[in-house]
Amino acid sequence: MKEINQKETGTLYIVATPIGNLEDITLRAIKILKEVDLIAAEDTRHTLKLLNHLEIAKPLISYHRHNEDIKTDILVKELKQGKQIALVSDAGTPGICDPGEEVIKRCIEEEITVIPIPGPCAFVNALICSGLDTNEFSFMGFLPLNKKNRKEKLEEIRNTTKTIILYEAPHKLETTLKDLKEVIDDRKIVLARELTKIHEEYIRTDMETLIEKAKELKGEMVLIIEGAKKEEDDTLTQLSLEEHYTYYEKKGMSKKEIIKQIAKDRNVNKNEIYQKFIKSS
Ligand code: SAM
Repeated sequence: MKEINQKETGTLYIVATPIGNLEDITLRAIKILKEVDLIAAEDTRHTLKLLNHLEIAKPLISYHRHNEDIKTDILVKELKQGKQIALVSDAGTPGICDPGEEVIKRCIEEEITVIPIPGPCAFVNALICSGLDTNEFSFMGFLPLNKKNRKEKLEEIRNTTKTIILYEAPHKLETTLKDLKEVIDDRKIVLARELTKIHEEYIRTDMETLIEKAKELKGEMVLIIEGAKKEEDDTLTQLSLEEHYTYYEKKGMSKKEIIKQIAKDRNVNKNEIYQKFIKSS
């Protein structure tokens, strides 16, 4: 039976593709790729290799970060004319640290149906085998390179009790780990490397040990970091305001950061905390 029913307006299928092992593609994904009129790909040469492996011949159009605007217009126009389109990225799920978001948003605005075809995604698989808490997690993608944004993100990592998931390139790993160590020293960390490939590896360790190994670690990698301890937050709110302040002062935080953090821990307005410290100083 055919998967796609021809309608007046086409559908955009978001198709997940392998993150290494070419066998990690669903039967439904193959069916969709065979039935669509057009495949929009992050890198057409890369996708061609997958299509050749699957013995699928289809027209390809490039859709990557640098042409998202123009190509979104073209894809929307084709969909409105009734074309069925599949969107794929180089590996894994489109839209997850990969192009896709823009055309998906536009299709929703234009009332064009968007359907996901589930499959591989590096962070989900890294997380489930990390051995860390999978109940609540925060996927942050790549850490920002801009100094201010990076500092803010690192602060967020310091404060969240959720498991944190980051993507990183091997040549930036050591710097990233050192930056992370500044905000979190004593948490478990897992590096999941080369998932689904020959050299697949999980390193379940601590920050110090991972920094020592960082230079020799190659390939594609995901970092999974244990969240901040929950009990700490509860205990902190039992402290007097002065004790609470001293707790963060000992961690080397600035007055501004401490006031912001105390307000967050106690769920009060930061001006309230600020006023108290101004009056008492
Ligand atoms: N869309 C992809 C997904 O669904 O996971 C992510 C694309 S993002 C541009 C590429 C990053 O994903 C890599 O730098 C790495 O952090 C992670 N990644 C992709 N494939 C991986 C693999 N086989 N093993 C570990 N990490 C991988």
